Amino acid sequence: MPTPFEHALAQLQRANAVHPFSEDFLKIFASPDRKIEISIPVQMDDGQTKIFEGYRVQHNNARGPYKGGIRFHQDTDIEEVKALALWMALKCAVVNIPMGGGKGGVTVNPKELSESELEQLSRGFVKRLADVLGPQKDVPAPDVNTNPTIMAWMADEYAKITGDTTGAVITGKPLDAGGSEGRGTATAQGGFYAFNALQEKLGLPEKCRVVIQGFGNAGQNAAEIWSQAGHTIIALADSRGAIYKADGLEVEAVVHHKQATGALAGFPGAQEISQEELLSLTCDVLIPAALENQIRQDNVDQIKAKVVFELANGPTTPEADDVLFGKGVPVVPDILANAGGVTVSTFEWEQNVKGEHWTVEEVFEKLQRMMELEASMIFGKAEELKTDLRRAAFIVALERIQEAMK
Ligand code: NAD
Repeated sequence: MPTPFEHALAQLQRANAVHPFSEDFLKIFASPDRKIEISIPVQMDDGQTKIFEGYRVQHNNARGPYKGGIRFHQDTDIEEVKALALWMALKCAVVNIPMGGGKGGVTVNPKELSESELEQLSRGFVKRLADVLGPQKDVPAPDVNTNPTIMAWMADEYAKITGDTTGAVITGKPLDAGGSEGRGTATAQGGFYAFNALQEKLGLPEKCRVVIQGFGNAGQNAAEIWSQAGHTIIALADSRGAIYKADGLEVEAVVHHKQATGALAGFPGAQEISQEELLSLTCDVLIPAALENQIRQDNVDQIKAKVVFELANGPTTPEADDVLFGKGVPVVPDILANAGGVTVSTFEWEQNVKGEHWTVEEVFEKLQRMMELEASMIFGKAEELKTDLRRAAFIVALERIQEAMK
Protein backbone atom coordinates (compact mmCIF):
# COMPACT_ATOMS: atom_id res chain seq x y z
CA MET A 1 0.00 0.00 0.00
CA PRO A 2 1.35 3.51 -0.81
CA THR A 3 2.54 5.51 2.19
CA PRO A 4 0.54 8.55 3.36
CA PHE A 5 3.31 10.77 1.93
CA GLU A 6 2.93 9.09 -1.46
CA HIS A 7 -0.79 9.80 -1.20
CA ALA A 8 -0.09 13.43 -0.45
CA LEU A 9 2.23 13.69 -3.47
CA ALA A 10 -0.38 12.00 -5.68
CA GLN A 11 -2.95 14.52 -4.48
CA LEU A 12 -0.57 17.37 -5.38
CA GLN A 13 -0.12 15.99 -8.89
CA ARG A 14 -3.85 15.56 -9.34
CA ALA A 15 -4.52 19.17 -8.35
CA ASN A 16 -1.72 20.25 -10.68
CA ALA A 17 -3.36 18.39 -13.56
CA VAL A 18 -6.48 20.56 -13.16
CA HIS A 19 -4.62 23.83 -12.60
CA PRO A 20 -0.93 23.60 -13.53
CA PHE A 21 1.67 25.25 -11.30
CA SER A 22 5.30 25.86 -12.25
CA GLU A 23 7.43 22.74 -12.11
CA ASP A 24 10.02 24.44 -9.91
CA PHE A 25 7.46 25.59 -7.39
CA LEU A 26 5.93 22.13 -7.11
CA LYS A 27 9.34 20.51 -6.77
CA ILE A 28 10.23 22.80 -3.88
CA PHE A 29 6.84 22.50 -2.22
CA ALA A 30 6.78 18.70 -2.48
CA SER A 31 10.04 18.38 -0.49
CA PRO A 32 10.01 18.98 3.27
CA ASP A 33 12.37 21.81 4.28
CA ARG A 34 13.74 19.69 7.12
CA LYS A 35 13.19 16.18 8.54
CA ILE A 36 14.50 15.52 12.03
CA GLU A 37 14.67 12.10 13.70
CA ILE A 38 15.41 11.93 17.42
CA SER A 39 15.96 9.31 20.13
CA ILE A 40 14.25 10.03 23.43
CA PRO A 41 15.46 8.14 26.52
CA VAL A 42 12.88 7.40 29.22
CA GLN A 43 13.61 5.79 32.54
CA MET A 44 10.78 3.27 32.86
CA ASP A 45 9.12 2.54 36.20
CA ASP A 46 10.98 -0.79 36.41
CA GLY A 47 14.30 1.10 36.40
CA GLN A 48 15.28 0.23 32.81
CA THR A 49 16.02 2.91 30.22
CA LYS A 50 14.02 2.67 27.01
CA ILE A 51 14.68 4.67 23.85
CA PHE A 52 11.73 5.99 21.82
CA GLU A 53 11.97 7.19 18.21
CA GLY A 54 10.60 10.68 17.56
CA TYR A 55 10.21 12.92 14.51
CA ARG A 56 9.65 16.53 13.60
CA VAL A 57 9.11 17.44 9.97
CA GLN A 58 9.22 21.13 9.03
CA HIS A 59 7.56 21.14 5.67
CA ASN A 60 7.25 24.72 4.49
CA ASN A 61 7.37 28.12 6.25
CA ALA A 62 6.72 30.50 3.37
CA ARG A 63 3.57 31.82 5.06
CA GLY A 64 4.78 31.80 8.70
CA PRO A 65 6.31 29.59 11.40
CA TYR A 66 5.97 25.83 10.92
CA LYS A 67 2.79 24.68 12.67
CA GLY A 68 1.39 21.25 13.38
CA GLY A 69 0.56 18.70 16.03
CA ILE A 70 2.53 15.94 17.72
CA ARG A 71 1.16 12.41 17.47
CA PHE A 72 1.95 9.60 19.92
CA HIS A 73 1.04 6.33 18.22
CA GLN A 74 2.58 2.89 17.83
CA ASP A 75 2.29 3.03 14.02
CA THR A 76 3.63 6.57 13.58
CA ASP A 77 6.75 6.81 11.43
CA ILE A 78 8.60 9.46 9.46
CA GLU A 79 6.58 8.79 6.28
CA GLU A 80 3.31 9.44 8.07
CA VAL A 81 4.69 12.59 9.74
CA LYS A 82 5.95 13.87 6.36
CA ALA A 83 2.45 13.54 4.88
CA LEU A 84 0.82 15.21 7.86
CA ALA A 85 3.32 18.09 7.67
CA LEU A 86 2.64 18.68 3.97
CA TRP A 87 -1.12 18.70 4.63
CA MET A 88 -0.57 21.18 7.49
CA ALA A 89 1.14 23.63 5.14
CA LEU A 90 -1.84 23.42 2.79
CA LYS A 91 -4.38 23.56 5.62
CA CYS A 92 -2.95 26.77 7.08
CA ALA A 93 -3.09 28.31 3.61
CA VAL A 94 -6.68 27.10 3.07
CA VAL A 95 -7.88 29.03 6.12
CA ASN A 96 -5.45 31.87 5.37
CA ILE A 97 -3.67 31.93 8.74
CA PRO A 98 -0.08 33.21 8.91
CA MET A 99 1.48 29.79 9.50
CA GLY A 100 3.49 27.26 7.57
CA GLY A 101 3.25 23.49 7.99
CA GLY A 102 5.00 20.98 10.20
CA LYS A 103 4.20 17.87 12.20
CA GLY A 104 5.72 15.70 14.89
CA GLY A 105 5.37 12.22 16.24
CA VAL A 106 6.72 9.53 18.52
CA THR A 107 6.41 5.80 17.83
CA VAL A 108 4.81 4.75 21.09
CA ASN A 109 1.57 3.38 22.45
CA PRO A 110 1.06 5.94 25.23
CA LYS A 111 -1.64 3.79 26.82
CA GLU A 112 1.18 1.46 27.91
CA LEU A 113 3.08 4.25 29.74
CA SER A 114 2.62 5.44 33.32
CA GLU A 115 2.10 9.15 33.89
CA SER A 116 5.73 9.65 34.91
CA GLU A 117 6.99 7.84 31.79
CA LEU A 118 4.65 9.90 29.59
CA GLU A 119 5.87 13.15 31.17
CA GLN A 120 9.53 12.19 30.62
CA LEU A 121 8.76 11.31 27.00
CA SER A 122 6.96 14.62 26.40
CA ARG A 123 9.71 16.67 28.01
CA GLY A 124 12.36 14.58 26.23
CA PHE A 125 10.77 15.42 22.85
CA VAL A 126 11.23 19.15 23.58
CA LYS A 127 14.75 18.71 25.01
CA ARG A 128 15.91 17.17 21.75
CA LEU A 129 14.18 19.79 19.58
CA ALA A 130 14.38 23.02 21.60
CA ASP A 131 16.83 24.55 19.10
CA VAL A 132 14.45 24.28 16.17
CA LEU A 133 11.19 25.12 17.98
CA GLY A 134 10.06 28.60 18.98
CA PRO A 135 7.17 31.07 18.64
CA GLN A 136 8.62 32.46 15.41
CA LYS A 137 10.16 29.18 14.20
CA ASP A 138 7.97 26.13 14.80
CA VAL A 139 4.87 25.90 16.98
CA PRO A 140 3.59 22.36 17.78
CA ALA A 141 0.13 21.40 19.08
CA PRO A 142 -1.82 18.27 20.09
CA ASP A 143 -2.81 15.47 17.73
CA VAL A 144 -3.73 11.80 18.15
CA ASN A 145 -3.11 10.66 21.77
CA THR A 146 -1.63 13.97 22.93
CA ASN A 147 -3.60 16.42 25.06
CA PRO A 148 -3.45 19.73 26.99
CA THR A 149 -1.50 18.18 29.89
CA ILE A 150 1.20 16.96 27.50
CA MET A 151 1.29 20.42 25.86
CA ALA A 152 1.75 22.02 29.31
CA TRP A 153 4.72 19.72 30.09
CA MET A 154 6.25 20.58 26.73
CA ALA A 155 5.73 24.35 27.16
CA ASP A 156 7.24 24.16 30.63
CA GLU A 157 10.27 22.24 29.35
CA TYR A 158 10.80 24.81 26.60
CA ALA A 159 10.54 27.64 29.15
CA LYS A 160 13.14 25.93 31.39
CA ILE A 161 15.59 25.53 28.51
CA THR A 162 15.15 28.91 26.80
CA GLY A 163 13.71 31.24 29.45
CA ASP A 164 10.78 32.06 27.13
CA THR A 165 7.75 31.83 29.39
CA THR A 166 5.17 33.30 26.97
CA GLY A 167 3.89 29.80 26.15
CA ALA A 168 3.69 30.82 22.49
CA VAL A 169 5.96 27.92 21.46
CA ILE A 170 3.13 25.42 21.69
CA THR A 171 -0.66 25.52 21.49
CA GLY A 172 -3.46 23.40 22.87
CA LYS A 173 -2.28 24.16 26.43
CA PRO A 174 -4.70 24.04 29.38
CA LEU A 175 -6.45 27.38 30.05
CA ASP A 176 -4.45 28.00 33.24
CA ALA A 177 -1.18 27.48 31.32
CA GLY A 178 -1.92 30.04 28.60
CA GLY A 179 -4.36 28.02 26.50
CA SER A 180 -7.12 29.58 24.43
CA GLU A 181 -10.80 29.43 25.17
CA GLY A 182 -12.42 27.08 22.67
CA ARG A 183 -9.28 25.15 21.64
CA GLY A 184 -10.56 21.86 23.07
CA THR A 185 -13.56 21.73 20.75
CA ALA A 186 -12.16 23.86 17.91
CA THR A 187 -11.56 21.09 15.37
CA ALA A 188 -15.11 19.78 15.54
CA GLN A 189 -16.61 23.26 15.96
CA GLY A 190 -14.73 24.63 12.96
CA GLY A 191 -15.82 21.57 11.00
CA PHE A 192 -19.39 22.25 11.97
CA TYR A 193 -19.18 25.86 10.71
CA ALA A 194 -17.82 24.63 7.38
CA PHE A 195 -20.52 21.94 7.27
CA ASN A 196 -23.25 24.55 7.85
CA ALA A 197 -21.86 26.72 5.08
CA LEU A 198 -21.93 23.76 2.65
CA GLN A 199 -24.93 21.72 3.83
CA GLU A 200 -27.44 23.15 1.34
CA LYS A 201 -24.94 23.39 -1.51
CA LEU A 202 -24.17 19.67 -1.03
CA GLY A 203 -27.86 18.81 -1.25
CA LEU A 204 -28.07 17.52 2.32
CA PRO A 205 -31.34 17.54 4.26
CA GLU A 206 -31.85 19.97 7.14
CA LYS A 207 -31.54 17.15 9.69
CA CYS A 208 -28.91 14.58 8.75
CA ARG A 209 -28.24 11.01 9.76
CA VAL A 210 -24.58 10.96 10.75
CA VAL A 211 -21.96 8.21 11.24
CA ILE A 212 -18.69 9.05 13.02
CA GLN A 213 -15.54 6.91 13.09
CA GLY A 214 -13.28 7.90 16.00
CA PHE A 215 -14.36 9.14 19.44
CA GLY A 216 -11.47 11.29 20.61
CA ASN A 217 -10.99 15.03 20.45
CA ALA A 218 -12.33 15.36 16.90
CA GLY A 219 -14.95 12.59 16.89
CA GLN A 220 -16.49 12.94 20.33
CA ASN A 221 -16.83 16.71 20.07
CA ALA A 222 -18.31 16.30 16.60
CA ALA A 223 -20.88 13.83 17.94
CA GLU A 224 -21.85 16.30 20.65
CA ILE A 225 -21.96 19.35 18.39
CA TRP A 226 -23.84 17.69 15.51
CA SER A 227 -26.38 16.06 17.85
CA GLN A 228 -26.94 19.30 19.80
CA ALA A 229 -27.79 20.91 16.45
CA GLY A 230 -30.54 18.33 15.93
CA HIS A 231 -28.79 15.84 13.66
CA THR A 232 -29.12 12.12 14.45
CA ILE A 233 -25.93 10.20 15.25
CA ILE A 234 -26.71 6.65 14.19
CA ALA A 235 -23.28 5.04 14.66
CA LEU A 236 -19.97 5.69 16.41
CA ALA A 237 -16.64 3.86 16.61
CA ASP A 238 -13.47 3.96 18.65
CA SER A 239 -10.41 1.73 18.27
CA ARG A 240 -12.08 -1.03 20.26
CA GLY A 241 -15.37 -1.31 18.38
CA ALA A 242 -18.40 0.30 16.76
CA ILE A 243 -21.98 0.80 17.93
CA TYR A 244 -25.16 1.41 15.91
CA LYS A 245 -28.72 2.45 16.71
CA ALA A 246 -31.04 3.07 13.78
CA ASP A 247 -33.15 5.70 15.54
CA GLY A 248 -30.14 7.55 16.98
CA LEU A 249 -27.67 7.26 19.85
CA GLU A 250 -28.04 9.48 22.89
CA VAL A 251 -24.62 11.08 22.69
CA GLU A 252 -24.34 12.38 26.27
CA ALA A 253 -25.13 8.89 27.60
CA VAL A 254 -22.52 7.41 25.23
CA VAL A 255 -19.93 9.88 26.56
CA HIS A 256 -20.68 8.79 30.14
CA HIS A 257 -20.48 5.13 29.14
CA LYS A 258 -17.10 5.71 27.44
CA GLN A 259 -15.81 7.59 30.50
CA ALA A 260 -16.95 4.82 32.83
CA THR A 261 -15.80 1.80 30.81
CA GLY A 262 -13.07 3.18 28.52
CA ALA A 263 -14.87 1.93 25.39
CA LEU A 264 -17.99 2.48 23.29
CA ALA A 265 -18.66 -1.24 23.09
CA GLY A 266 -21.30 -2.44 25.51
CA PHE A 267 -23.36 0.76 25.32
CA PRO A 268 -26.84 -0.36 26.42
CA GLY A 269 -29.45 -0.50 23.67
CA ALA A 270 -27.01 -0.23 20.79
CA GLN A 271 -26.05 -2.95 18.36
CA GLU A 272 -22.34 -3.79 18.11
CA ILE A 273 -21.10 -3.79 14.54
CA SER A 274 -17.71 -4.15 12.88
CA GLN A 275 -15.58 -1.19 11.73
CA GLU A 276 -16.28 -2.24 8.11
CA GLU A 277 -20.03 -2.29 8.73
CA LEU A 278 -19.84 1.19 10.24
CA LEU A 279 -18.23 2.61 7.10
CA SER A 280 -20.85 0.98 4.88
CA LEU A 281 -23.95 2.25 6.70
CA THR A 282 -26.55 4.19 4.71
CA CYS A 283 -26.42 7.75 6.03
CA ASP A 284 -26.29 11.40 4.96
CA VAL A 285 -22.86 12.20 6.35
CA LEU A 286 -19.94 9.91 7.15
CA ILE A 287 -17.35 11.63 9.34
CA PRO A 288 -14.01 9.80 9.53
CA ALA A 289 -12.36 11.18 12.69
CA ALA A 290 -9.69 8.57 13.48
CA LEU A 291 -6.74 7.75 11.24
CA GLU A 292 -5.53 7.66 7.62
CA ASN A 293 -6.43 5.21 4.84
CA GLN A 294 -9.89 4.26 6.04
CA ILE A 295 -11.70 4.69 2.70
CA ARG A 296 -9.71 2.86 0.04
CA GLN A 297 -10.06 1.23 -3.33
CA ASP A 298 -10.97 -2.08 -1.69
CA ASN A 299 -13.88 -0.76 0.42
CA VAL A 300 -15.00 2.43 -1.34
CA ASP A 301 -17.78 0.63 -3.22
CA GLN A 302 -19.43 -0.09 0.09
CA ILE A 303 -19.71 3.57 1.08
CA LYS A 304 -23.39 4.56 1.07
CA ALA A 305 -23.06 8.04 2.60
CA LYS A 306 -24.27 11.06 0.61
CA VAL A 307 -21.27 13.10 1.78
CA VAL A 308 -17.92 12.25 3.38
CA PHE A 309 -16.73 14.93 5.79
CA GLU A 310 -13.08 14.40 6.75
CA LEU A 311 -12.33 15.45 10.32
CA ALA A 312 -9.39 13.01 10.31
CA ASN A 313 -6.30 13.70 8.25
CA GLY A 314 -5.89 11.57 5.14
CA PRO A 315 -8.77 9.12 5.65
CA THR A 316 -9.53 8.79 1.90
CA THR A 317 -6.99 7.52 -0.61
CA PRO A 318 -6.69 9.21 -4.04
CA GLU A 319 -8.17 6.14 -5.80
CA ALA A 320 -11.17 6.17 -3.47
CA ASP A 321 -11.55 9.92 -4.09
CA ASP A 322 -12.02 9.22 -7.80
CA VAL A 323 -14.63 6.55 -7.21
CA LEU A 324 -16.60 8.81 -4.85
CA PHE A 325 -16.38 11.80 -7.22
CA GLY A 326 -17.54 9.54 -10.07
CA LYS A 327 -20.55 8.47 -8.00
CA GLY A 328 -21.37 12.09 -7.13
CA VAL A 329 -20.44 11.70 -3.44
CA PRO A 330 -18.72 14.91 -2.36
CA VAL A 331 -15.74 14.57 -0.02
CA VAL A 332 -15.17 17.68 2.11
CA PRO A 333 -11.39 17.38 2.42
CA ASP A 334 -9.41 17.28 5.66
CA ILE A 335 -7.42 20.43 4.88
CA LEU A 336 -10.69 22.37 4.98
CA ALA A 337 -12.94 20.27 7.23
CA ASN A 338 -10.57 19.95 10.21
CA ALA A 339 -8.78 23.31 9.88
CA GLY A 340 -10.65 24.72 12.90
CA GLY A 341 -8.08 23.16 15.23
CA VAL A 342 -5.08 24.90 13.76
CA THR A 343 -7.07 28.12 13.38
CA VAL A 344 -7.81 28.35 17.11
CA SER A 345 -4.24 27.16 17.81
CA THR A 346 -3.11 30.21 15.86
CA PHE A 347 -5.47 32.40 17.90
CA GLU A 348 -3.83 30.92 21.04
CA TRP A 349 -0.35 31.71 19.68
CA GLU A 350 -1.45 35.27 18.85
CA GLN A 351 -2.92 35.77 22.35
CA ASN A 352 0.33 34.47 23.95
CA VAL A 353 2.52 36.67 21.75
CA LYS A 354 0.42 39.77 22.52
CA GLY A 355 -0.25 38.86 26.16
CA GLU A 356 -4.03 38.86 25.58
CA HIS A 357 -6.92 36.60 26.57
CA TRP A 358 -9.93 36.44 24.26
CA THR A 359 -13.42 35.32 25.30
CA VAL A 360 -14.88 32.12 23.91
CA GLU A 361 -17.41 34.24 21.99
CA GLU A 362 -14.60 36.20 20.31
CA VAL A 363 -12.76 32.98 19.44
CA PHE A 364 -15.77 31.24 17.91
CA GLU A 365 -16.98 34.37 16.12
CA LYS A 366 -13.62 34.69 14.35
CA LEU A 367 -13.47 30.95 13.70
CA GLN A 368 -16.97 30.89 12.22
CA ARG A 369 -16.23 33.81 9.92
CA MET A 370 -13.05 32.20 8.61
CA MET A 371 -14.47 28.69 8.16
CA GLU A 372 -17.62 29.89 6.39
CA LEU A 373 -15.71 32.21 4.10
CA GLU A 374 -13.11 29.64 3.03
CA ALA A 375 -15.60 26.75 2.75
CA SER A 376 -17.81 28.76 0.40
CA MET A 377 -14.81 29.98 -1.55
CA ILE A 378 -13.50 26.45 -2.08
CA PHE A 379 -16.93 25.20 -3.09
CA GLY A 380 -17.06 28.00 -5.69
CA LYS A 381 -13.56 27.14 -6.92
CA ALA A 382 -14.56 23.46 -7.38
CA GLU A 383 -17.59 24.52 -9.42
CA GLU A 384 -15.55 26.96 -11.50
CA LEU A 385 -12.90 24.32 -12.29
CA LYS A 386 -15.45 21.47 -12.50
CA THR A 387 -13.39 19.43 -10.07
CA ASP A 388 -13.74 17.91 -6.62
CA LEU A 389 -13.44 19.82 -3.37
CA ARG A 390 -10.03 18.34 -2.54
CA ARG A 391 -8.41 19.47 -5.75
CA ALA A 392 -10.07 22.87 -5.35
CA ALA A 393 -8.75 23.22 -1.79
CA PHE A 394 -5.25 22.15 -2.87
CA ILE A 395 -5.30 24.69 -5.71
CA VAL A 396 -6.41 27.57 -3.46
CA ALA A 397 -3.75 26.65 -0.90
CA LEU A 398 -0.97 26.21 -3.46
CA GLU A 399 -1.78 29.58 -5.04
CA ARG A 400 -1.43 31.26 -1.64
CA ILE A 401 1.82 29.45 -0.81
CA GLN A 402 3.29 30.19 -4.23
CA GLU A 403 2.46 33.87 -3.77
CA ALA A 404 4.22 33.86 -0.38
CA MET A 405 7.27 32.05 -1.80
CA LYS A 406 7.61 34.67 -4.52
P1 NAD B 1 -7.65 11.26 19.60
O1 NAD B 1 -6.47 10.50 20.01
O2 NAD B 1 -8.26 12.22 20.55
O3 NAD B 1 -8.80 10.24 19.12
C1 NAD B 1 -8.64 9.27 18.14
C2 NAD B 1 -9.87 8.38 18.16
O4 NAD B 1 -9.81 7.46 17.07
C3 NAD B 1 -10.00 7.54 19.42
O5 NAD B 1 -11.36 7.50 19.83
C4 NAD B 1 -9.56 6.14 18.98
O6 NAD B 1 -10.13 5.11 19.75
C5 NAD B 1 -10.10 6.16 17.55
N1 NAD B 1 -9.50 5.17 16.68
C6 NAD B 1 -8.19 4.86 16.53
N2 NAD B 1 -8.04 3.88 15.63
C7 NAD B 1 -9.28 3.57 15.20
C8 NAD B 1 -9.80 2.64 14.26
N3 NAD B 1 -8.98 1.82 13.59
N4 NAD B 1 -11.13 2.59 14.06
C9 NAD B 1 -11.96 3.41 14.73
N5 NAD B 1 -11.53 4.32 15.62
C10 NAD B 1 -10.22 4.39 15.86
O7 NAD B 1 -7.26 11.99 18.24
P2 NAD B 1 -7.92 13.26 17.57
O8 NAD B 1 -7.18 14.45 18.00
O9 NAD B 1 -9.40 13.19 17.73
O10 NAD B 1 -7.52 13.01 16.04
C11 NAD B 1 -8.32 12.21 15.18
C12 NAD B 1 -8.04 12.64 13.75
O11 NAD B 1 -8.35 14.02 13.61
C13 NAD B 1 -6.58 12.47 13.32
O12 NAD B 1 -6.53 12.16 11.96
C14 NAD B 1 -6.02 13.86 13.57
O13 NAD B 1 -4.87 14.12 12.80
C15 NAD B 1 -7.20 14.69 13.12
N6 NAD B 1 -7.16 16.06 13.62
C16 NAD B 1 -7.18 16.33 14.94
C17 NAD B 1 -7.11 17.66 15.36
C18 NAD B 1 -7.17 18.06 16.81
O14 NAD B 1 -7.23 19.26 17.09
N7 NAD B 1 -7.19 17.13 17.74
C19 NAD B 1 -7.04 18.70 14.41
C20 NAD B 1 -7.04 18.37 13.07
C21 NAD B 1 -7.10 17.05 12.68
